[in-house]
Amino acid sequence: MSIETRVVKVDKENPDPALLQTAADLLACGELVAFPTETVYGLGANALDSDAVSKIFVAKGRPLSDPLIVHIYSISQMDEIAVNMPPVAWDLAHAFWPGPLTIVLPKHRRIPANVSAGLETVAVRMPNHRVPHALFRLADLPVVAPSANLFSRPSPTTAQHVLDDLGGRIPMILDGGATEIGVESTVLDLTGDRPLILRPGGLPIEVLRPLIPTVSYTPRYAALDGTSAPSPGMLLKHYSPSVQVLLFHGAVDHVLPRIERTTRKLLEEGKAVGLMLSQEDEARFDPLGATVASLGSEDNLGQIAQNLFARMRELERSGVDVILTRTFDSHGLGLAIADRLIRATEGKVIEVR
Ligand code: AMP
Ligand code: MG
Repeated sequence: MSIETRVVKVDKENPDPALLQTAADLLACGELVAFPTETVYGLGANALDSDAVSKIFVAKGRPLSDPLIVHIYSISQMDEIAVNMPPVAWDLAHAFWPGPLTIVLPKHRRIPANVSAGLETVAVRMPNHRVPHALFRLADLPVVAPSANLFSRPSPTTAQHVLDDLGGRIPMILDGGATEIGVESTVLDLTGDRPLILRPGGLPIEVLRPLIPTVSYTPRYAALDGTSAPSPGMLLKHYSPSVQVLLFHGAVDHVLPRIERTTRKLLEEGKAVGLMLSQEDEARFDPLGATVASLGSEDNLGQIAQNLFARMRELERSGVDVILTRTFDSHGLGLAIADRLIRATEGKVIEVR
């Protein structure tokens, strides 16, 4: 069954309360609304209404085992979301909210079980964007909001991406333009013996460390069948376009010639090849006859993160058979970029020596 999806343009600096009121009313009556955040577009539902939360899993085709993040507009809402918050959680919240940091904490019993896939914990964040801030305030609700894409597809960074995936499945999309950060929030688990990053994201680990020196991150990727899931939702196939992605990893002076050789070979085989590379790489690859998508300058990881999912979707739409890409510096946002690229390839990374 298909429903009409309204796309409503909103000014991201100064959103019109009358437009947002319609969206807030939808949330209050258990409906779904997609909206921009500083990371990617989110698909929101009332976090206190388990039936509304169920609709998210249906609309996205998301497995029920993949927990959702509760989004808030005010720290005072924490009282009904989490319990026994350690002091460091308050310090982090005051330092980094609103912003791209999600904190996993012991769950308050008011939060329905399907929000956190039956776990005793709950993930929370406060987005740094005026549209969700004003929307949540009008609705006066905590809002679960996974990325507004179909499950395992690249996350949406524009309203058009949301429409492409969820058009006919949700009643409303608030269009506030392209998102700024372009990759999802950093997920930090404070419920274990040691603080752990579960997902690198928009807030780099280096920025967290001064406040929480024992924080650690070990990349671990669960198989699609979930049998070896280190934590819920850490599925390997994620953020992936529908065409095959080959990720080349190694020193750049070895990686680029290898990508060039592979591109020539694939073109000779009659394949349409897409290349997702840096602006600096473009000149070398333009003459080959592949479709080259620039992520931006390799000196500007912010730009690369911002463009990553959009370029994946563009190449996919252009009808290429295969996308070749490479890793970048792994400092700062580079860790999140590498994580999303690895997932886009379903872990098939080509090590170049
Ligand atoms: P998304 O909403 O698509 O950005 O993904 C949210 C991610 O947050 C999930 O896939 C999990 O990795 C993580 N997450 C959410 N809630 C929890 C939780 N209670 N415990 C551990 N991880 C969580
Ligand atoms: Mg997602």
